[in-house]
Amino acid sequence: MQFVIVGAGLVGASLAVALAQEGHECILHDRFDMVEAAVQAKGGLVTVSFGDVGGHVMIQTNGLRILKRMGILQQVLDAGLISPTVCTSKMDGTKPLRVNMFVEGEDDDIKNPVQILRTLLHNILMKACDAVGVRCFTGKKLVAFTQTPDSVECRFEDGFVAHGDFLIGADGVHSATRKLLFGQDKVAQFTGVVGYLGCVDLKANSLTVDHPTTFHVDRLSKCEVVMFRVSEDKLAWRVTEYAEPDTEATDSWRAYSNLPKESERLANMVEKWGLPQMYVECIRKSYRITPVTIYDLPDIPKFCDGRVLLIGDAAHGMRPNFGQGLSLGLEDVGTLRELFKMFPEPADYKKVFDLYEKTRIPRTHNIAGRSRGMAATVYADTPMRANLSHFKTRLFYLSMNWGLLPHPNAFNYEEALAAAIKEV
Ligand SMILES: Cc1cc2nc3c(=O)[nH]c(=O)nc-3n(C[C@H](O)[C@H](O)[C@H](O)COP(=O)(O)OP(=O)(O)OC[C@H]3O[C@@H](n4cnc5c(N)ncnc54)[C@H](O)[C@@H]3O)c2cc1C
Repeated sequence: MQFVIVGAGLVGASLAVALAQEGHECILHDRFDMVEAAVQAKGGLVTVSFGDVGGHVMIQTNGLRILKRMGILQQVLDAGLISPTVCTSKMDGTKPLRVNMFVEGEDDDIKNPVQILRTLLHNILMKACDAVGVRCFTGKKLVAFTQTPDSVECRFEDGFVAHGDFLIGADGVHSATRKLLFGQDKVAQFTGVVGYLGCVDLKANSLTVDHPTTFHVDRLSKCEVVMFRVSEDKLAWRVTEYAEPDTEATDSWRAYSNLPKESERLANMVEKWGLPQMYVECIRKSYRITPVTIYDLPDIPKFCDGRVLLIGDAAHGMRPNFGQGLSLGLEDVGTLRELFKMFPEPADYKKVFDLYEKTRIPRTHNIAGRSRGMAATVYADTPMRANLSHFKTRLFYLSMNWGLLPHPNAFNYEEALAAAIKEV
């Protein structure tokens, strides 16, 4: 079968590899334009790998499972760092609590989350695309599509036209595919939160940190600083606060052009918030900082229509508080791969799409809702609410540590699919 995949980000590229490994023809199309990016950076940094947001990403057990099936898990483990626990605390590092992030009873190679730079993960995926013969066209911004009972035709801004059996919209939180499919009223909403993503070379700057992954929260000031060690010598970080979107923040998330000015400004800002000095210095010495705007997508009751299907953030983009957006996108990939294996005849695609919606909609809406709930506990309006949220969050984490609550990353898409098929 022929798949036109729009969006060659982390999820689109993963899907292309997964389906190509099963013998399908996949062609990736992405609006990213390397030449334009270099011009707009005005001599500043431009990422060589598109889809990079300048920081890191955490892949949890539920997402690692599909990377293992695709045969690229070891490369990912080699390029990142496993992080069995995270340490949450108040902004100044007091009241620390270690939270278990591993899944008891899982295979050793996927039981712990992996922290990895997005660029490295994207590079691994693009190399895997190359190895299975997936082509990727850049400078291709989807503007329209039409479908017949047998095929789809996609039109891009530069006049290019692509045909296939199916269109897969993997074009992220501002998905054009989603808007064309379901209209303009269920689009991404600004949450009021802006973020800054940075990377620092610890070794080159003689910096040390006391735990590989730390979350520092000040609920009353509504700000958060998260530090993720991504290798022996590199650390990525994320600072979030309630503010107006930064004028330099684009939805393709390019790095700041004036790094010295922004690193100094942000380091001074978090120092005032009371962040421990060793972390302040990590921000001051960053080699790249990218401003981002945090969006949430309203839940939609359908992920497919006719021969067009949404996947990843295009289907269920959510607030990043649960660290699950990508892992859920990878679950989508694994689910589709299994379904097309079970129903290899083109005429059976409706069964595939129905089962995809049946399994993916409840799961992703559940996690999106929990991410919203988690975001609500990070920000409080009064000291009393801040203390209450602090207490509730600790109770939630302790319940997970004690095994009283199922870990959200213990989900197994293969088991969920088997159960859904049994039901029908
Ligand atoms: C600050 C932040 C931190 C996060 N941290 C984590 C984390 O630790 N763990 C985790 O699991 N998730 C995390 N997430 C979520 C995660 O980043 C996303 O879920 C994931 O990147 C989604 O991948 P995607 O391929 O669906 O979309 P994207 O990565 O957004 O890729 C979409 C691609 O589509 C292209 N595109 C867009 N429009 C068009 C068009 N019209 N035509 C053609 N191409 C187009 C874009 O250029 C892009 O390459 C975080 C998100 C944010 C904002």
